[in-house]
Amino acid sequence: MTFNEGIQLDPNRVKTSRGGGTGAAVGGIGGLVALLIFMFTGVDLSGVLGGTSTGTVEEGVSLAHCTDAAAANKYVECRMVATAESLDALWTEQLVAQTGVDYVQPGFVVFQDAVNTACGQATAAVGPFYCPGDQTVYLDVAFFDVLETQLGATNAPLAQEYIVAHEWGHHIQNQLGYMSQVDLQDTGATSGAVRLELQADCLAGMWVRHASSTVDPETGQTFLEPPTEAQLRDALGAASAVGDDRIQQKTQGRAFPETFTHGTSQQRMSWFSAGYTGGTVQSCDTFSVSGSDL
Ligand SMILES: [Zn+2]
Repeated sequence: MTFNEGIQLDPNRVKTSRGGGTGAAVGGIGGLVALLIFMFTGVDLSGVLGGTSTGTVEEGVSLAHCTDAAAANKYVECRMVATAESLDALWTEQLVAQTGVDYVQPGFVVFQDAVNTACGQATAAVGPFYCPGDQTVYLDVAFFDVLETQLGATNAPLAQEYIVAHEWGHHIQNQLGYMSQVDLQDTGATSGAVRLELQADCLAGMWVRHASSTVDPETGQTFLEPPTEAQLRDALGAASAVGDDRIQQKTQGRAFPETFTHGTSQQRMSWFSAGYTGGTVQSCDTFSVSGSDL
């Protein structure tokens, strides 16, 4: 989606971090308490992305240039700032109105290579993730290239924004108490883990539904233009590309439903669409539908 001229961005909304140094290599989720984070895909991307650079974590790139819509529409890192502010504005309005719970802004760290979190140290091979321990979304924008080159989606703005909105969805689930009710050791096509991930996809769709009518509280200007059909297809393409069945077929030659953690391509697209169409937290209740309706 395209950000509207007239919005003002606060570059300080997003923190940056860069993993460097010569510490022992910890690939993927090796350094993490794996089950306590919420990853965007069910796979470890070691070997695809960075994955060897750990050790000291330094200050990351400056986002000082991310102050307006032109920057958000041009630079991926500024698109992250604008997306975060749009998500904050949406959830500040909708969460309390729909559920009575006051929205608490999550942290958002855009990192390179590796990052230290309350859930442990992660490399970029984890892909985008949410750590409930520090209520923070972590993302290396290099993942967007992987989405295109390895997973076959289009690296388009709404595809990127859907991923951020999905991780924000995990924060909303954390606030609403869904996260603590799910046994993440339990995998499979109708497991709580899958229901949680599909709900996060639905909450991302809900953001897309409302993003073009949610205003920047600082300027009174709406953040985004309504999505075009082509842009919606970009988001659905990303949702499809990260389905458990699609990824397992690609990496293991066939799908193993008993090991699913995120849902199939079809389910991820369907629940994203349910949030987009329904526009409410209620329409994202993946926990009360039967397994065959999931
Ligand atoms: Zn997720």
